[in-house]
Amino acid sequence: MNVTNQNADDSCRRIVIFDTTLRDGEQSPGASMNLPEKLQVAEALVELGVDVIEAGFPIASPGDFESVREISRIVKGASVCGLARCVNADIDRAWEALKEAEDPRIHVFLATSAVHREFKLRMTQDEIIAKAVAGVQRAKGYCSNVEFSPEDACRTEIDFLCRVVEATIDAGATTVNIPDTVGYTTPPEMEARIRSLIERVPNIDKAVISIHCHNDLGMAVANSLAAVTAGAGQIECSINGLGERAGNCSLEEVVMAMRTRRDFLKVDTRIVSQKLVATSRLVSKVTGLKVPRNKAIVGQNAFAHESGVHQDGVLKERTTYEIMSAESVGFAKNDLVLGKHSGRAALADRIKSLGYELTKEQLDVAFEAFKSLADLKKEVYDADIIEIVDQSSNKHAASRPADWEYISYSLTSGVDDEPAVKIVLAHENVERIVEAKGGHGPIDVMFKAIQQVVNFPLTLKEFKIEAVSGGSDAQGSATIFLEEPNSSRTYRGRGTSIDVFEAALKALVEAVNRVQSAHADA
Ligand SMILES: [Zn+2]
Repeated sequence: MNVTNQNADDSCRRIVIFDTTLRDGEQSPGASMNLPEKLQVAEALVELGVDVIEAGFPIASPGDFESVREISRIVKGASVCGLARCVNADIDRAWEALKEAEDPRIHVFLATSAVHREFKLRMTQDEIIAKAVAGVQRAKGYCSNVEFSPEDACRTEIDFLCRVVEATIDAGATTVNIPDTVGYTTPPEMEARIRSLIERVPNIDKAVISIHCHNDLGMAVANSLAAVTAGAGQIECSINGLGERAGNCSLEEVVMAMRTRRDFLKVDTRIVSQKLVATSRLVSKVTGLKVPRNKAIVGQNAFAHESGVHQDGVLKERTTYEIMSAESVGFAKNDLVLGKHSGRAALADRIKSLGYELTKEQLDVAFEAFKSLADLKKEVYDADIIEIVDQSSNKHAASRPADWEYISYSLTSGVDDEPAVKIVLAHENVERIVEAKGGHGPIDVMFKAIQQVVNFPLTLKEFKIEAVSGGSDAQGSATIFLEEPNSSRTYRGRGTSIDVFEAALKALVEAVNRVQSAHADA
Protein backbone atom coordinates (compact mmCIF):
# COMPACT_ATOMS: atom_id res chain seq x y z
CA MET A 1 0.00 0.00 0.00
CA ASN A 2 1.20 3.43 -0.90
CA VAL A 3 0.35 5.84 1.90
CA THR A 4 1.36 9.39 1.18
CA ASN A 5 0.32 12.63 2.77
CA GLN A 6 2.23 15.38 1.02
CA ASN A 7 0.37 18.17 -0.70
CA ALA A 8 -0.26 18.46 -4.44
CA ASP A 9 1.88 16.40 -6.75
CA ASP A 10 2.74 17.88 -10.18
CA SER A 11 2.78 14.52 -11.96
CA CYS A 12 -1.02 14.20 -11.54
CA ARG A 13 -3.78 15.91 -13.51
CA ARG A 14 -4.92 18.85 -11.41
CA ILE A 15 -8.64 19.07 -10.65
CA VAL A 16 -10.21 22.51 -10.13
CA ILE A 17 -11.97 22.78 -6.77
CA PHE A 18 -15.09 24.95 -7.01
CA ASP A 19 -16.47 25.58 -3.53
CA THR A 20 -20.18 26.33 -3.18
CA THR A 21 -20.43 26.49 0.64
CA LEU A 22 -21.52 30.13 0.40
CA ARG A 23 -24.18 29.51 -2.29
CA ASP A 24 -25.60 25.96 -2.33
CA GLY A 25 -24.34 25.37 1.24
CA GLU A 26 -26.06 28.48 2.50
CA GLN A 27 -29.32 27.10 1.07
CA SER A 28 -29.31 24.40 3.81
CA PRO A 29 -32.19 25.21 6.15
CA GLY A 30 -30.92 27.18 9.15
CA ALA A 31 -27.44 27.71 7.65
CA SER A 32 -27.76 31.36 6.67
CA MET A 33 -24.64 33.43 7.34
CA ASN A 34 -24.25 37.17 7.72
CA LEU A 35 -21.77 39.26 5.76
CA PRO A 36 -18.84 39.20 8.26
CA GLU A 37 -19.23 35.42 8.52
CA LYS A 38 -19.27 35.00 4.74
CA LEU A 39 -16.12 37.11 4.42
CA GLN A 40 -14.42 35.04 7.10
CA VAL A 41 -15.38 31.78 5.33
CA ALA A 42 -14.30 33.14 1.91
CA GLU A 43 -10.89 34.08 3.31
CA ALA A 44 -10.53 30.64 4.91
CA LEU A 45 -11.37 29.04 1.54
CA VAL A 46 -8.56 31.01 -0.12
CA GLU A 47 -6.16 29.86 2.60
CA LEU A 48 -7.35 26.31 2.05
CA GLY A 49 -6.44 26.61 -1.64
CA VAL A 50 -9.80 26.38 -3.42
CA ASP A 51 -9.71 27.62 -7.03
CA VAL A 52 -13.21 29.07 -7.36
CA ILE A 53 -15.53 30.45 -4.64
CA GLU A 54 -19.20 30.55 -5.56
CA ALA A 55 -20.13 33.48 -3.35
CA GLY A 56 -23.90 33.64 -3.90
CA PHE A 57 -26.84 34.31 -6.21
CA PRO A 58 -26.80 38.12 -6.53
CA ILE A 59 -30.36 38.62 -7.85
CA ALA A 60 -31.86 36.49 -5.03
CA SER A 61 -31.83 39.26 -2.40
CA PRO A 62 -30.10 42.55 -1.52
CA GLY A 63 -28.13 40.63 1.16
CA ASP A 64 -26.89 38.10 -1.41
CA PHE A 65 -25.89 40.89 -3.77
CA GLU A 66 -23.98 42.74 -1.06
CA SER A 67 -22.10 39.65 0.07
CA VAL A 68 -21.01 38.72 -3.49
CA ARG A 69 -19.92 42.33 -4.05
CA GLU A 70 -17.94 42.52 -0.79
CA ILE A 71 -16.26 39.14 -1.31
CA SER A 72 -15.32 40.26 -4.85
CA ARG A 73 -13.89 43.50 -3.51
CA ILE A 74 -12.00 42.14 -0.49
CA VAL A 75 -11.10 38.49 -1.06
CA LYS A 76 -8.19 37.91 -3.45
CA GLY A 77 -6.41 34.71 -4.41
CA ALA A 78 -9.30 32.72 -5.94
CA SER A 79 -11.81 33.23 -8.72
CA VAL A 80 -15.12 34.59 -7.37
CA CYS A 81 -18.30 33.31 -8.99
CA GLY A 82 -21.92 34.50 -8.93
CA LEU A 83 -24.96 32.49 -10.01
CA ALA A 84 -27.57 33.73 -12.52
CA ARG A 85 -30.53 32.29 -14.40
CA CYS A 86 -30.48 32.76 -18.19
CA VAL A 87 -32.30 36.05 -17.75
CA ASN A 88 -30.78 39.44 -18.59
CA ALA A 89 -31.63 41.01 -15.23
CA ASP A 90 -29.94 38.12 -13.36
CA ILE A 91 -26.78 38.25 -15.46
CA ASP A 92 -26.51 42.05 -15.26
CA ARG A 93 -26.96 41.95 -11.49
CA ALA A 94 -24.37 39.16 -11.15
CA TRP A 95 -21.85 41.23 -13.09
CA GLU A 96 -22.60 44.32 -11.01
CA ALA A 97 -21.71 42.28 -7.89
CA LEU A 98 -18.65 40.57 -9.41
CA LYS A 99 -16.95 43.34 -11.35
CA GLU A 100 -14.34 44.18 -8.71
CA ALA A 101 -13.19 40.55 -8.36
CA GLU A 102 -9.65 39.58 -9.34
CA ASP A 103 -10.95 36.78 -11.59
CA PRO A 104 -14.75 37.06 -11.87
CA ARG A 105 -16.83 34.16 -13.17
CA ILE A 106 -20.52 34.32 -14.12
CA HIS A 107 -22.32 31.00 -13.68
CA VAL A 108 -25.54 30.81 -15.74
CA PHE A 109 -27.95 27.91 -15.52
CA LEU A 110 -31.08 26.63 -17.24
CA ALA A 111 -32.90 23.33 -16.70
CA THR A 112 -32.74 20.84 -19.57
CA SER A 113 -34.43 17.61 -18.40
CA ALA A 114 -37.83 16.64 -19.84
CA VAL A 115 -39.63 17.00 -16.52
CA HIS A 116 -38.24 20.53 -16.00
CA ARG A 117 -38.89 21.51 -19.65
CA GLU A 118 -42.48 20.32 -19.63
CA PHE A 119 -43.66 21.20 -16.15
CA LYS A 120 -41.45 24.01 -14.88
CA LEU A 121 -40.38 25.93 -17.98
CA ARG A 122 -42.98 24.88 -20.61
CA MET A 123 -40.36 25.23 -23.33
CA THR A 124 -39.30 23.08 -26.30
CA GLN A 125 -35.76 21.75 -26.75
CA ASP A 126 -34.98 24.39 -29.38
CA GLU A 127 -36.27 27.17 -27.14
CA ILE A 128 -34.07 25.89 -24.30
CA ILE A 129 -30.97 25.93 -26.52
CA ALA A 130 -31.72 29.44 -27.77
CA LYS A 131 -32.19 30.73 -24.22
CA ALA A 132 -29.04 29.01 -22.89
CA VAL A 133 -26.96 30.42 -25.76
CA ALA A 134 -28.36 33.92 -25.22
CA GLY A 135 -27.54 33.70 -21.49
CA VAL A 136 -23.95 32.57 -22.10
CA GLN A 137 -23.47 35.30 -24.74
CA ARG A 138 -24.74 38.02 -22.43
CA ALA A 139 -22.42 36.83 -19.63
CA LYS A 140 -19.56 36.63 -22.11
CA GLY A 141 -20.12 40.30 -22.93
CA TYR A 142 -19.07 41.06 -19.35
CA CYS A 143 -16.26 38.58 -18.63
CA SER A 144 -14.28 35.83 -20.31
CA ASN A 145 -14.76 33.30 -17.51
CA VAL A 146 -18.29 31.89 -17.99
CA GLU A 147 -19.74 28.66 -16.66
CA PHE A 148 -22.96 27.10 -17.92
CA SER A 149 -25.03 24.49 -16.03
CA PRO A 150 -27.83 22.51 -17.67
CA GLU A 151 -29.82 22.01 -14.47
CA ASP A 152 -30.88 18.37 -13.87
CA ALA A 153 -28.34 17.32 -16.54
CA CYS A 154 -28.14 13.77 -15.21
CA ARG A 155 -31.83 13.20 -16.01
CA THR A 156 -31.58 14.92 -19.41
CA GLU A 157 -31.73 12.79 -22.60
CA ILE A 158 -28.08 12.30 -23.62
CA ASP A 159 -28.66 13.40 -27.25
CA PHE A 160 -30.22 16.66 -26.14
CA LEU A 161 -27.56 17.20 -23.44
CA CYS A 162 -24.83 16.86 -26.13
CA ARG A 163 -26.59 19.51 -28.25
CA VAL A 164 -26.89 21.91 -25.27
CA VAL A 165 -23.25 21.45 -24.27
CA GLU A 166 -21.99 21.98 -27.84
CA ALA A 167 -24.13 25.11 -28.34
CA THR A 168 -23.13 26.72 -25.03
CA ILE A 169 -19.42 26.04 -25.61
CA ASP A 170 -19.82 27.62 -29.07
CA ALA A 171 -21.44 30.60 -27.37
CA GLY A 172 -18.37 31.02 -25.15
CA ALA A 173 -18.82 28.90 -22.01
CA THR A 174 -15.35 28.04 -20.66
CA THR A 175 -16.72 25.56 -18.09
CA VAL A 176 -19.74 23.29 -18.61
CA ASN A 177 -21.09 21.87 -15.40
CA ILE A 178 -23.10 18.63 -15.31
CA PRO A 179 -25.27 18.80 -12.18
CA ASP A 180 -26.91 15.79 -10.59
CA THR A 181 -29.41 18.26 -9.19
CA VAL A 182 -31.58 15.66 -7.45
CA GLY A 183 -28.87 13.21 -6.34
CA TYR A 184 -30.24 10.37 -8.50
CA THR A 185 -27.27 9.13 -10.52
CA THR A 186 -25.01 6.17 -9.69
CA PRO A 187 -21.23 6.13 -10.28
CA PRO A 188 -21.26 3.85 -13.39
CA GLU A 189 -23.93 6.01 -15.04
CA MET A 190 -22.03 9.15 -14.21
CA GLU A 191 -18.84 7.80 -15.70
CA ALA A 192 -20.69 6.74 -18.88
CA ARG A 193 -22.41 10.14 -19.19
CA ILE A 194 -19.15 12.09 -18.99
CA ARG A 195 -17.47 9.69 -21.45
CA SER A 196 -20.38 10.17 -23.90
CA LEU A 197 -19.99 13.94 -23.73
CA ILE A 198 -16.26 13.68 -24.37
CA GLU A 199 -16.80 11.32 -27.33
CA ARG A 200 -19.78 13.04 -28.91
CA VAL A 201 -19.43 16.80 -28.39
CA PRO A 202 -17.02 18.01 -31.10
CA ASN A 203 -15.86 21.19 -29.30
CA ILE A 204 -15.65 19.63 -25.79
CA ASP A 205 -11.89 20.34 -25.59
CA LYS A 206 -12.67 24.09 -25.55
CA ALA A 207 -14.19 23.90 -22.05
CA VAL A 208 -13.57 22.31 -18.68
CA ILE A 209 -16.15 19.68 -17.76
CA SER A 210 -17.41 20.19 -14.24
CA ILE A 211 -19.52 18.08 -11.93
CA HIS A 212 -22.05 19.11 -9.24
CA CYS A 213 -23.41 16.18 -7.25
CA HIS A 214 -26.06 16.10 -4.54
CA ASN A 215 -25.99 13.53 -1.79
CA ASP A 216 -29.61 12.35 -1.61
CA LEU A 217 -28.54 8.70 -1.93
CA GLY A 218 -25.16 9.20 -0.24
CA MET A 219 -23.29 8.97 -3.57
CA ALA A 220 -22.18 12.57 -4.18
CA VAL A 221 -18.49 11.91 -3.52
CA ALA A 222 -18.50 8.59 -5.42
CA ASN A 223 -20.30 10.19 -8.39
CA SER A 224 -17.83 13.09 -8.45
CA LEU A 225 -14.88 10.69 -8.49
CA ALA A 226 -16.54 8.65 -11.27
CA ALA A 227 -16.86 11.84 -13.35
CA VAL A 228 -13.22 12.70 -12.73
CA THR A 229 -12.16 9.19 -13.78
CA ALA A 230 -14.00 9.77 -17.06
CA GLY A 231 -12.24 13.10 -17.63
CA ALA A 232 -14.07 15.86 -15.73
CA GLY A 233 -11.71 18.64 -14.64
CA GLN A 234 -13.69 20.53 -11.99
CA ILE A 235 -15.57 19.35 -8.90
CA GLU A 236 -18.22 21.50 -7.24
CA CYS A 237 -18.33 20.74 -3.54
CA SER A 238 -18.81 22.31 -0.14
CA ILE A 239 -17.25 22.24 3.31
CA ASN A 240 -18.91 19.61 5.54
CA GLY A 241 -21.04 18.65 2.50
CA LEU A 242 -23.47 21.51 3.18
CA GLY A 243 -26.15 22.16 0.60
CA GLU A 244 -29.78 21.77 -0.42
CA ARG A 245 -31.52 18.80 1.26
CA ALA A 246 -28.93 16.05 1.96
CA GLY A 247 -26.20 18.40 0.78
CA ASN A 248 -23.47 18.50 -1.86
CA CYS A 249 -20.31 16.52 -2.44
CA SER A 250 -18.18 17.05 0.67
CA LEU A 251 -14.99 18.97 -0.17
CA GLU A 252 -12.88 17.36 2.55
CA GLU A 253 -13.90 13.83 1.54
CA VAL A 254 -13.46 14.19 -2.21
CA VAL A 255 -10.14 16.02 -1.82
CA MET A 256 -8.71 13.44 0.59
CA ALA A 257 -9.97 10.58 -1.60
CA MET A 258 -8.02 12.03 -4.52
CA ARG A 259 -4.92 12.68 -2.42
CA THR A 260 -4.88 9.38 -0.55
CA ARG A 261 -5.66 7.35 -3.70
CA ARG A 262 -3.54 9.40 -6.07
CA ASP A 263 -1.78 6.13 -6.93
CA PHE A 264 -5.01 4.89 -8.53
CA LEU A 265 -6.93 8.02 -9.56
CA LYS A 266 -3.88 9.95 -10.89
CA VAL A 267 -5.40 13.30 -10.00
CA ASP A 268 -4.81 15.90 -7.30
CA THR A 269 -5.81 19.40 -6.21
CA ARG A 270 -4.21 22.55 -4.84
CA ILE A 271 -5.89 22.06 -1.45
CA VAL A 272 -3.70 22.49 1.65
CA SER A 273 -5.13 19.46 3.45
CA GLN A 274 -3.69 20.51 6.83
CA LYS A 275 -6.30 23.29 6.92
CA LEU A 276 -9.33 21.04 6.39
CA VAL A 277 -10.24 20.57 10.06
CA ALA A 278 -9.95 24.27 10.92
CA THR A 279 -12.09 25.24 7.90
CA SER A 280 -14.68 22.60 8.78
CA ARG A 281 -14.86 23.92 12.36
CA LEU A 282 -15.25 27.49 11.13
CA VAL A 283 -18.14 26.56 8.80
CA SER A 284 -19.78 24.50 11.54
CA LYS A 285 -19.51 27.43 13.93
CA VAL A 286 -20.93 30.09 11.61
CA THR A 287 -23.80 27.91 10.35
CA GLY A 288 -24.64 26.26 13.68
CA LEU A 289 -24.69 22.88 11.86
CA LYS A 290 -22.61 20.41 13.81
CA VAL A 291 -20.29 17.87 12.21
CA PRO A 292 -21.20 14.30 13.30
CA ARG A 293 -18.49 12.64 15.37
CA ASN A 294 -18.10 9.81 12.85
CA LYS A 295 -17.98 12.08 9.77
CA ALA A 296 -15.16 11.02 7.42
CA ILE A 297 -12.00 13.19 7.52
CA VAL A 298 -13.17 15.96 9.91
CA GLY A 299 -15.37 14.20 12.51
CA GLN A 300 -13.99 14.05 16.04
CA ASN A 301 -13.75 10.25 15.84
CA ALA A 302 -12.37 10.04 12.30
CA PHE A 303 -8.94 9.00 13.61
CA ALA A 304 -9.90 7.48 16.99
CA HIS A 305 -9.16 3.79 17.49
CA GLU A 306 -11.24 2.10 20.15
CA SER A 307 -10.71 -1.65 19.73
CA GLY A 308 -7.67 -3.07 21.51
CA VAL A 309 -6.52 -4.93 18.40
CA HIS A 310 -6.59 -1.71 16.35
CA GLN A 311 -4.85 0.33 19.06
CA ASP A 312 -2.13 -2.27 19.35
CA GLY A 313 -1.64 -2.34 15.58
CA VAL A 314 -1.46 1.43 15.22
CA LEU A 315 1.07 1.70 18.04
CA LYS A 316 3.31 -0.87 16.32
CA GLU A 317 2.87 0.59 12.82
CA ARG A 318 0.45 3.44 12.07
CA THR A 319 -0.41 2.24 8.55
CA THR A 320 -1.83 -1.07 9.86
CA TYR A 321 -5.17 0.69 10.43
CA GLU A 322 -4.65 4.24 9.16
CA ILE A 323 -4.67 5.28 5.51
CA MET A 324 -4.01 8.95 6.31
CA SER A 325 -2.49 10.64 9.31
CA ALA A 326 -4.63 12.83 11.56
CA GLU A 327 -2.07 15.65 11.19
CA SER A 328 -2.38 15.61 7.39
CA VAL A 329 -5.95 16.93 7.66
CA GLY A 330 -5.18 19.31 10.51
CA PHE A 331 -5.87 17.50 13.77
CA ALA A 332 -3.25 18.52 16.34
CA LYS A 333 -0.78 15.80 17.27
CA ASN A 334 -1.87 15.50 20.86
CA ASP A 335 -4.18 17.44 23.13
CA LEU A 336 -1.53 19.49 24.91
CA VAL A 337 -2.95 21.21 27.96
CA LEU A 338 -2.07 24.84 28.63
CA GLY A 339 -2.53 26.65 31.95
CA LYS A 340 -2.16 30.03 33.55
CA HIS A 341 1.62 29.87 33.51
CA SER A 342 1.75 29.24 29.76
CA GLY A 343 3.14 32.22 27.90
CA ARG A 344 2.25 34.01 24.69
CA ALA A 345 4.72 31.92 22.67
CA ALA A 346 3.20 28.64 23.89
CA LEU A 347 -0.28 29.86 22.96
CA ALA A 348 0.91 31.10 19.54
CA ASP A 349 2.54 27.75 18.90
CA ARG A 350 -0.59 25.83 19.87
CA ILE A 351 -2.83 28.05 17.72
CA LYS A 352 -0.55 27.42 14.76
CA SER A 353 -0.55 23.67 15.27
CA LEU A 354 -4.36 23.75 15.32
CA GLY A 355 -4.27 25.15 11.77
CA TYR A 356 -4.96 28.84 12.42
CA GLU A 357 -2.91 31.81 11.38
CA LEU A 358 -3.48 34.96 13.41
CA THR A 359 -2.16 38.46 12.90
CA LYS A 360 -0.21 40.03 15.77
CA GLU A 361 -3.30 42.05 16.79
CA GLN A 362 -5.55 38.97 16.73
CA LEU A 363 -3.00 37.06 18.80
CA ASP A 364 -2.97 39.90 21.36
CA VAL A 365 -6.76 39.63 21.69
CA ALA A 366 -6.57 35.84 21.89
CA PHE A 367 -3.87 35.97 24.57
CA GLU A 368 -5.93 38.32 26.76
CA ALA A 369 -8.93 35.97 26.47
CA PHE A 370 -6.68 32.99 27.21
CA LYS A 371 -5.33 34.62 30.40
CA SER A 372 -8.81 35.40 31.73
CA LEU A 373 -9.96 31.86 30.97
CA ALA A 374 -6.86 30.33 32.59
CA ASP A 375 -7.68 32.32 35.73
CA LEU A 376 -11.09 30.66 35.86
CA LYS A 377 -10.17 27.08 34.99
CA LYS A 378 -6.97 25.21 35.68
CA GLU A 379 -6.49 23.41 32.39
CA VAL A 380 -7.06 24.99 29.00
CA TYR A 381 -7.67 22.41 26.25
CA ASP A 382 -7.44 22.65 22.46
CA ALA A 383 -11.23 22.97 22.27
CA ASP A 384 -11.04 26.03 24.57
CA ILE A 385 -8.32 27.54 22.40
CA ILE A 386 -10.42 27.01 19.27
CA GLU A 387 -13.29 28.93 20.96
CA ILE A 388 -10.92 31.76 21.83
CA VAL A 389 -9.50 31.91 18.31
CA ASP A 390 -12.96 31.88 16.74
CA GLN A 391 -13.98 34.83 18.86
CA SER A 392 -10.84 36.88 18.28
CA SER A 393 -10.07 36.17 14.64
CA ASN A 394 -12.91 37.53 12.55
CA LYS A 395 -11.62 40.95 11.63
CA HIS A 396 -14.81 41.62 9.64
CA ALA A 397 -17.12 41.12 12.62
CA ALA A 398 -17.28 44.67 13.94
CA SER A 399 -20.55 44.93 15.83
CA ARG A 400 -23.18 47.23 14.37
CA PRO A 401 -23.88 50.41 16.33
CA ALA A 402 -27.50 49.32 16.81
CA ASP A 403 -26.50 45.99 18.42
CA TRP A 404 -27.33 45.19 22.01
CA GLU A 405 -24.36 44.31 24.15
CA TYR A 406 -24.56 41.95 27.12
CA ILE A 407 -22.83 43.26 30.28
CA SER A 408 -23.82 41.14 33.32
CA TYR A 409 -26.71 39.41 35.09
CA SER A 410 -27.92 38.09 38.41
CA LEU A 411 -30.36 35.21 38.80
CA THR A 412 -32.20 33.48 41.61
CA SER A 413 -33.78 30.15 40.85
CA GLY A 414 -34.54 26.83 42.46
CA VAL A 415 -37.14 24.06 42.43
CA ASP A 416 -39.27 25.79 45.06
CA ASP A 417 -38.35 29.39 44.23
CA GLU A 418 -39.92 31.61 41.65
CA PRO A 419 -37.11 32.42 39.15
CA ALA A 420 -36.09 36.09 39.00
CA VAL A 421 -33.49 37.68 36.76
CA LYS A 422 -31.86 41.08 36.40
CA ILE A 423 -29.87 41.65 33.20
CA VAL A 424 -27.59 44.57 32.39
CA LEU A 425 -27.36 45.37 28.68
CA ALA A 426 -25.91 48.27 26.71
CA HIS A 427 -27.32 49.86 23.60
CA GLU A 428 -25.50 52.66 21.78
CA ASN A 429 -23.23 52.96 24.87
CA VAL A 430 -26.15 53.49 27.25
CA GLU A 431 -26.73 50.90 29.95
CA ARG A 432 -30.18 49.46 30.41
CA ILE A 433 -31.34 47.09 33.15
CA VAL A 434 -34.18 44.67 32.47
CA GLU A 435 -35.83 42.50 35.11
CA ALA A 436 -38.36 39.67 35.04
CA LYS A 437 -39.90 37.25 37.48
CA GLY A 438 -41.82 33.97 37.32
CA GLY A 439 -42.23 31.56 34.44
CA HIS A 440 -40.89 28.10 33.86
CA GLY A 441 -37.31 28.21 35.06
CA PRO A 442 -34.22 30.29 34.27
CA ILE A 443 -34.33 30.17 30.44
CA ASP A 444 -37.99 31.18 30.33
CA VAL A 445 -37.42 34.12 32.67
CA MET A 446 -34.39 35.18 30.64
CA PHE A 447 -36.62 35.31 27.53
CA LYS A 448 -39.20 37.39 29.41
CA ALA A 449 -36.56 39.91 30.42
CA ILE A 450 -34.96 40.24 26.97
CA GLN A 451 -38.42 40.48 25.38
CA GLN A 452 -38.71 43.95 26.94
CA VAL A 453 -36.03 45.43 24.70
CA VAL A 454 -37.16 44.03 21.35
CA ASN A 455 -40.21 44.94 19.32
CA PHE A 456 -40.98 41.46 17.97
CA PRO A 457 -42.09 38.32 19.81
CA LEU A 458 -39.24 35.98 20.70
CA THR A 459 -40.04 32.40 19.66
CA LEU A 460 -37.44 29.84 20.63
CA LYS A 461 -37.11 27.13 18.00
CA GLU A 462 -34.08 25.28 19.25
CA PHE A 463 -31.78 25.53 22.24
CA LYS A 464 -28.62 23.48 22.77
CA ILE A 465 -25.99 23.64 25.41
CA GLU A 466 -22.85 21.55 25.56
CA ALA A 467 -19.48 21.46 27.24
CA VAL A 468 -16.57 22.64 25.10
CA SER A 469 -14.19 20.16 26.75
CA GLY A 470 -14.19 17.59 29.55
CA GLY A 471 -14.16 18.48 33.26
CA SER A 472 -16.88 20.00 35.43
CA ASP A 473 -15.18 23.39 35.08
CA ALA A 474 -15.52 23.23 31.28
CA GLN A 475 -16.86 26.16 29.29
CA GLY A 476 -20.45 25.81 28.14
CA SER A 477 -21.33 26.63 24.57
CA ALA A 478 -24.97 27.60 23.95
CA THR A 479 -26.70 27.78 20.57
CA ILE A 480 -30.11 29.34 20.18
CA PHE A 481 -32.31 29.46 17.09
CA LEU A 482 -35.11 32.05 17.12
CA GLU A 483 -37.98 31.74 14.72
CA GLU A 484 -39.64 34.75 13.25
CA PRO A 485 -43.43 34.51 13.41
CA ASN A 486 -45.21 34.49 10.03
CA SER A 487 -42.08 33.45 8.16
CA SER A 488 -39.91 30.39 8.21
CA ARG A 489 -36.75 32.41 8.83
CA THR A 490 -34.57 31.34 11.70
CA TYR A 491 -31.84 33.34 13.38
CA ARG A 492 -28.94 31.81 15.23
CA GLY A 493 -27.02 33.01 18.24
CA ARG A 494 -24.09 31.43 20.00
CA GLY A 495 -22.40 32.20 23.31
CA THR A 496 -19.64 30.65 25.37
CA SER A 497 -18.92 31.01 29.07
CA ILE A 498 -17.85 28.97 32.08
CA ASP A 499 -21.29 29.91 33.43
CA VAL A 500 -23.91 28.12 31.29
CA PHE A 501 -26.68 30.64 32.00
CA GLU A 502 -24.40 33.42 30.83
CA ALA A 503 -23.56 31.38 27.70
CA ALA A 504 -27.29 31.09 26.93
CA LEU A 505 -27.82 34.80 27.56
CA LYS A 506 -24.96 35.75 25.21
CA ALA A 507 -26.43 33.43 22.57
CA LEU A 508 -29.88 35.02 22.92
CA VAL A 509 -28.50 38.56 22.64
CA GLU A 510 -26.57 37.57 19.49
CA ALA A 511 -29.70 36.03 17.94
CA VAL A 512 -31.73 39.15 18.78
CA ASN A 513 -29.10 41.33 17.11
CA ARG A 514 -29.33 39.16 13.99
CA VAL A 515 -33.10 39.56 13.77
CA GLN A 516 -32.77 43.31 14.22
CA SER A 517 -30.04 43.65 11.63
CA ALA A 518 -32.09 41.58 9.14
CA HIS A 519 -35.04 43.92 9.72
CA ALA A 520 -32.81 46.97 9.29
CA ASP A 521 -31.53 45.61 5.92
CA ALA A 522 -34.97 44.73 4.62
ZN1 LIG B 1 -26.88 22.16 -6.05
